[in-house]
Amino acid sequence: MSIADQPVYDVIIVGAGSMGMSAGYHLARRGVRTLLIDAFDPPHTQGSHHGEPRLIRHAYSGDPAYIDLALRAQQLWEEAEAESGKTLLVRSGVLNLADSGVYSFAGRLEEAQKRGVRAERLPAADITRRWPVLNLPESFEAMYEPDAGYLYSEQCITAYRELALAHGATLLTDTPVLDVTAREGSVTVHTKNGDYHGAAAVLSAGAWFSSLSPFVSLPIKAIRKVVGWFDSPPAFNAGNFPGFTLGAEEGGFYGFPGIGGAGLKIGRHDTGEEWKPGQALAPFGSLESDEGDLRRVLEAYMPGAAGRLLKGAVCKYEHTPDEDFIIDRHPAYSNVLLAGGFSGHGFKFSSVVGEILADLAVQGHTGHPIKPFALSRFNI
Ligand SMILES: Cc1cc2nc3c(=O)[nH]c(=O)nc-3n(C[C@H](O)[C@H](O)[C@H](O)COP(=O)(O)OP(=O)(O)OC[C@H]3O[C@@H](n4cnc5c(N)ncnc54)[C@H](O)[C@@H]3O)c2cc1C
Repeated sequence: MSIADQPVYDVIIVGAGSMGMSAGYHLARRGVRTLLIDAFDPPHTQGSHHGEPRLIRHAYSGDPAYIDLALRAQQLWEEAEAESGKTLLVRSGVLNLADSGVYSFAGRLEEAQKRGVRAERLPAADITRRWPVLNLPESFEAMYEPDAGYLYSEQCITAYRELALAHGATLLTDTPVLDVTAREGSVTVHTKNGDYHGAAAVLSAGAWFSSLSPFVSLPIKAIRKVVGWFDSPPAFNAGNFPGFTLGAEEGGFYGFPGIGGAGLKIGRHDTGEEWKPGQALAPFGSLESDEGDLRRVLEAYMPGAAGRLLKGAVCKYEHTPDEDFIIDRHPAYSNVLLAGGFSGHGFKFSSVVGEILADLAVQGHTGHPIKPFALSRFNI
């Protein structure tokens, strides 16, 4: 096929996962000719978005931009629910638990409340009165967010996929992108099935960003992560128990109530082994710590939920050195947008990240606070 025969798109999205599919939806609904390309058939089990659900909470630590973005993200999830007719978000509340010797909620709570987030701080005695299945030392405290909850991440991607296509986007699945070349006003995306031409591109390749080097080289390291579902009594089920995070001397953990008989789900946020594109990913149970770390923390703080392991899954984080995201333009090509390094906490924001990418592609700027995600912080 000669170049003249090939379709020309306004924006080509490389990686139609959490961020890319959302960007595809936001672009297509603004009438932008959008091509989405993915190596698999999203949602799928090879990247960072499977093994739903994902927590959405608003009282973030770190840059206050996260709080504003989390609140806008939740509005956009509600809109996506209305437009798709699918249940995407469950407002289960999120109980953030921490050993006060390890972590304090003080600054975070104040910043969140200033921005209109409903959140309350609870001492250990009040927490165990409300959730008697918890076994917490007196040194523990909590910050409870009643309006937070969890997202069915795979359903979210399916919803954005269907809506993007309904708004006129084109999606190529099972099409790995091999390389990208660009000049101002023009981008060519090279795949095993041929080349695609667009005026601009969004690169949202998740754990595979390093495979797009040398076209783009970002400080992103992919990490193997595991999660487990444990047999647990009804007191830990959805409706009775909230989503949670837990910071203690054992490490940083997060989890979800049992949904539809699946058992309580728990994962560890810190630790994990580096993974590189092309390497095999060790299945759940390959390391003693896969189940061991999760079971030990359940036995200590939620002993009733430390039942039989019902299921385990392996997934990938993609960490930047400071665990803040990268949302910026390519350092050499202003028509190539980069969205990566979501560092194990990006899913909740994917609705608003898509909106930001569409703003940047269509208007050239966004009203959302994205300064903390600039590449310049790495001197790139
Ligand atoms: C176990 C686990 C628990 C998590 N819990 C939470 C949570 O509770 N709350 C939260 O907010 N976040 C959470 N996260 C983080 C969140 O899921 C990720 O930050 C988010 O999914 C990253 O989105 P992404 O678009 O960068 O990656 P992905 O969703 O993986 O999308 C990347 C896409 O790019 C495609 N791709 C890559 N390279 C190419 C190529 N060369 N050609 C074509 N396609 C390509 C891939 O196939 C993939 O579909 C968790 C992550 C994990 C792994």
